[in-house]
Amino acid sequence: MSRLFIPGPTDVPPDVLAAQTQPMVGHRSRAFTDLFARIQPRLRQVFQTEHRVYITASSGTGLLEGAMRSCTAERLLTCTCGAFGDRWATVAEANGLPFERLEADWGQANTAEQVEAALATRQYDTLLVVHNETSTGVENPIAEIATRARAQVSDVVILIDAVSSAGGVPLETDAWDLDVVVTSSQKCFALPPGLALGAVSDRALARAETVPHRGWYFDLLLLEKYLLRDSTPATPAISLVYALDRQLQRMLEEGMVARFARHAAMADRVREWASSRFGLYAAEGHRSQTVTAVANTRSLDVPALNAFLAREGMTLADGYGALKGRTFRIAHMGETTPSDIDALLEGIDTYLKTSGLR
Ligand SMILES: *Cc1c(COP(=O)(O)O)cnc(C)c1O
Repeated sequence: MSRLFIPGPTDVPPDVLAAQTQPMVGHRSRAFTDLFARIQPRLRQVFQTEHRVYITASSGTGLLEGAMRSCTAERLLTCTCGAFGDRWATVAEANGLPFERLEADWGQANTAEQVEAALATRQYDTLLVVHNETSTGVENPIAEIATRARAQVSDVVILIDAVSSAGGVPLETDAWDLDVVVTSSQKCFALPPGLALGAVSDRALARAETVPHRGWYFDLLLLEKYLLRDSTPATPAISLVYALDRQLQRMLEEGMVARFARHAAMADRVREWASSRFGLYAAEGHRSQTVTAVANTRSLDVPALNAFLAREGMTLADGYGALKGRTFRIAHMGETTPSDIDALLEGIDTYLKTSGLR
């Protein structure tokens, strides 16, 4: 039963939590390399890639920061339509990378036309797009953006922040010709926080060969060298890797198609509820399958609502940053089920009634 309706961390199934209590093994031992090797094909299946998926002991931000450093040889174009897109521009700046921001209004998506026009200037060799902008509840049209971007600059390296989408919505790394697709363990994968998972193409590695200062911990070429030995350069988060092994089994038992359908059904339910009582912040046609930003048109006191829901052990998320109070967010990702969503929506309806709002 899910009780956390915030966009990460999400609730972790008890057997996955328990998997973490297995005894430690040496990370250079056969026991560990066998485990790491067993995980790889299933991760490739989830990311829909025949290439490779790295696992680092960090949240997703670390690995994507590393990918930005490893892949930007000339200039990076960072697309933003919300707080996480903005953060990537801050990360590029902090690393001294040459970059430019491409902005869409909050609540809107970045468009393929916009990206195509920017790349037509031939200034950029690397592109970063957020798949699912968690602050505004917008899903960007990644497949279309990638196709149009590659038509402009055939060897552009495309980096995707899929932190709040991978494992919950269709994301075809190879078919869409994406180069680096990064997620965090604590969102749609429904694991505890602490792992980053990143699918990486041969094109991204070839680019990294041309970049002299890639850092060390998240250097894609170093991660590759160790993955070939079913290992990692530094000590992996072994307990979380045990949990990942168990959770991948659960995810593939449910089936990715069924998992995506469950996320879509929950999104439909929340949107229908929200539009009859409030409004939806994200533009129609670009609404997220994993998190809904409800426009707080009735000026609900979100902390008071959360205090009420806490009596049932439930929590939702206030608006992010500047959207605090103007929106509240309901996550429908990970192992959350449609009946969990029904329980939450009933809880909010009860709050509305007791406060005389309905
Ligand atoms: C949560 C989130 C992040 C940050 O992820 P960490 O796991 O904290 O590194 C980045 N981008 C998006 C879209 C997110 O939802």
